[in-house]
Amino acid sequence: MKNKEKLANLPSVDEYLKSSYGQKWLEIYNRKIVLRAIRETIDARRKEILDSNDPEVSIEALSGDIESAIRRLSAYKLKPLINATGIVIHTNLGRSALSDRAINNVTAIAAGYSNLEYEIAKGKRGKRYSHLKDVLIEITGAEDAVVVNNNAAAVLICLDTFARGKEVIVSRGELVEIGGSFRIPDVMESSGAILREVGTTNKTHLMDYENALCGNTAMLLKVHQSNYKIIGFTEEVSIEDLSKLGREFKIPLVADVGSGSIINLEKYGIHGEPTVMDVIKAGADLVTFSGDKLLGGPQAGIIIGKKDLIQKIQKNPMLRAMRIDKMTFAALEATFMQYLDEEKAVRDIPTVRMLTESGEAIKKRANKILSALKKSVSEQARLDVIPDQSRAGGGSLPETDFPTFSVSIKPLNIKLNMLEKRLRLGEPPVIARIKEDSILIDARTIEDREIKTLVNCIAAAINS
Ligand SMILES: *Cc1c(COP(=O)(O)O)cnc(C)c1O
Repeated sequence: MKNKEKLANLPSVDEYLKSSYGQKWLEIYNRKIVLRAIRETIDARRKEILDSNDPEVSIEALSGDIESAIRRLSAYKLKPLINATGIVIHTNLGRSALSDRAINNVTAIAAGYSNLEYEIAKGKRGKRYSHLKDVLIEITGAEDAVVVNNNAAAVLICLDTFARGKEVIVSRGELVEIGGSFRIPDVMESSGAILREVGTTNKTHLMDYENALCGNTAMLLKVHQSNYKIIGFTEEVSIEDLSKLGREFKIPLVADVGSGSIINLEKYGIHGEPTVMDVIKAGADLVTFSGDKLLGGPQAGIIIGKKDLIQKIQKNPMLRAMRIDKMTFAALEATFMQYLDEEKAVRDIPTVRMLTESGEAIKKRANKILSALKKSVSEQARLDVIPDQSRAGGGSLPETDFPTFSVSIKPLNIKLNMLEKRLRLGEPPVIARIKEDSILIDARTIEDREIKTLVNCIAAAINS
C-alpha cells in the first residue's frame, strides 16, 4: 500500500467510538481518557506512516496500543511501590509509611465531618491545635505544643515570631543543608532574621555565643546535624549550657532536632539521636521536629516547649498559611497515641519497627522471599540471602550502618541494569539497589504482606 492510501485507511476517532472496541472502552473508562488515547495512538500511527514505516492500520491492529494508552492515562501518577532499598526513611519514596491505626483514623476523619474546630462539650467554636496538645504534653513532658505542615515550616515560624529583623546566633558547625531545599542560612534570610554565625566548622565554644550576644539578639538556635557528622577534633555547646546562657540573658533557646525520636533508641543499638524529651529536659525553650522521620507519622512539623512562647506562635498570622489539615491531625494523633505504650509503638509503627527489627527477623523474611523466588526463577537467576547494610535515610543517623539481610539476584539471561529498569517500570514498581554484580532486595523495608507481589514482580521482570 502506498503512504497516501495507508493514511486514508487510518480509522477515524468516530469510527473507533462506534466500533465494538470503542463501545466496550466507553463502558469501563472515562470518555475523555478514551478519546485522548484513540487520538494519541492514531497520531502516532500517522507519524509512523509519514516516516515511511509500514504499520498495520486496521481497527483491530490499533486496539492493543489504544488499550495500553487508556490504562496508562487512567492510572494515578502518584502510586504505591515496593521499597527494596533498605532505606527506611527514604525521602524520595515518601519517608514514613503510616501505622494501621493512623490509616484507620485518617479514613474515619476524612470520610465525614469532625470536631476539627468545634468544642463538643461547650457546643461552640474550638481550636484545631487543642486536640493534639494533651497527648503531646503527656508524651514529651513539654508545657504546650503546636503543629505545622513540616519541620521547615516549624523553624520558619519560630524565626518569624521571635526574630524578625533581629539576630539569631547559630554555630558554624550547624549551618546545615537538608535535602537541597532546606538550608539554615536561606531559611533565616527568608524569615527576615539576621544570621549571626559563631565558632568554626569543627569547634564552637560557649564563649563564642557569649561574645556574640548583643542588644539585638532574639534567639539562640541549635540545629541537629541530621545528615552529616563532624568527627575528629570537634566541640559543640550542649543544650544545657546554651539554655543557662539563654536564661541569664532572657533569650529563648530553640532546638531544631530534625528527626525527633520519642523512643530512646540506644537500647536497640542505635546511637546519636536524642529523644525530644531529653532536649526539653536539658532546657530548650522550644523544640521542633518532623512528623514523618523517626516519629513514623505523617508529614508535619511539631513545635513543643514553653507555654508563653507557643502562644505567641499561635498568634502569628503566618501560622494560618502553614496549618495542617484534618487528615494530618488524624494520622498524627493516632501515631502519638501509640507512643503511650512503647512496646506497641515499636511493634506497630512501621518506621520504628523497621529500624529496630532484629537481624534474625529480617533474615527470616529474606529467606521467605528467597524460597518463593526459587519456585519461579531459579533457572534464570542465581539467588542468595546475604548479610548487608541498610541506612536510616531522611537525614537521620548518618554513618550508622544497620546490619540487615538482602536477597541477592544475579540474572543469567539479562543485563543487571535491564533487570533494575524492568523492576522500576513494573506494576507496582520495585525500587532496588545494584551492588557489584547483583540486584539486592533488602528485606528490612519489605512488609510481609508485600512478599507475594514482590516475587511476582521480580519473576515478571526476569521472564519478560
Ligand atoms: C529534616 C530536617 C528539617 C526539615 O524537616 P521537614 O519535615 O523535611 O521539613 C529541618 N531541620 C533538620 C535538622 C532536619 O533534620
